[in-house]
Amino acid sequence: MVVSCASNPYKKINKEYRKNVKEVAKAYLEIPQTKEELNYDTLSITDEWVGTTNFSIRRPNFVIIHHTAQDSLGQTISTFTKTSTQVSSHYVIGRDGTIVQMLNDYLRSWHAGRGKWGNVTDLNSVSIGIELDNNGFEPFSEEQIASLLILCKRLKWKYGIPTANFIGHSDIAPSRKVDPNKYFPWKKLAEEGYGFWYDEEVVYPQINPLDTNTSIPLQSSDSLPLDAFDPVIALRIIGYDVSNPALAIQSFKLHFVQQEVSSELTDLDIRILKNLYKKYL
Ligand SMILES: [Zn+2]
Repeated sequence: MVVSCASNPYKKINKEYRKNVKEVAKAYLEIPQTKEELNYDTLSITDEWVGTTNFSIRRPNFVIIHHTAQDSLGQTISTFTKTSTQVSSHYVIGRDGTIVQMLNDYLRSWHAGRGKWGNVTDLNSVSIGIELDNNGFEPFSEEQIASLLILCKRLKWKYGIPTANFIGHSDIAPSRKVDPNKYFPWKKLAEEGYGFWYDEEVVYPQINPLDTNTSIPLQSSDSLPLDAFDPVIALRIIGYDVSNPALAIQSFKLHFVQQEVSSELTDLDIRILKNLYKKYL
């Protein structure tokens, strides 16, 4: 016993995992109650149970990316295998690119917590959580991002996850969460098909260095007059919870501006937002 535990330190937690999965599976085996069993309080339900065989298991539709805010992969695994923490993730990716899967994709992990994206308020029920080992104040290693891209490719293909639905924890929980940190390469992910990025050639107009008399046009090629553009509506179209616009702006800037995350929109931020929100329409 001592020897087997030493060879697999996760034997005990893996046994508990199987036990918990069996408990969850019971919910699938339950036959919905009939009118009689419900004491006739739901008149629209028939006396007889009528089943259909046309069904399958629900599938995740979002990927939410996090940083662990911990110092090592081992520390994160320790956190996620303690029942007292009540937090988990489907995948954890180490700084060296190691991918640790901790949950079947179909199970509801506890990674998103309280949050809102579009009209979805139970993100845990519809998403895969990916945690990147990072202390919160450092860049992400090339190996780590390479592994993340491979994992995203597999998840997007397997579950048909829309490009727009690869988002960060900070996107769904303005002010409450700031992960992944400002070093996260969202632009690179968008170039690979995971999330959107703005068109830099539109946002940063090209200036001919020889033509010194040319002033920088502040407006993009957008034909809408400036006063017809409402930044709060644009943020809402992207998915942000705009119940507190200043906090939504901070979350937007952490993802799409990164070098500066105040709650004010600069001219540049507005140009980015005007270009970006149309991709979510
Ligand atoms: Zn997080």
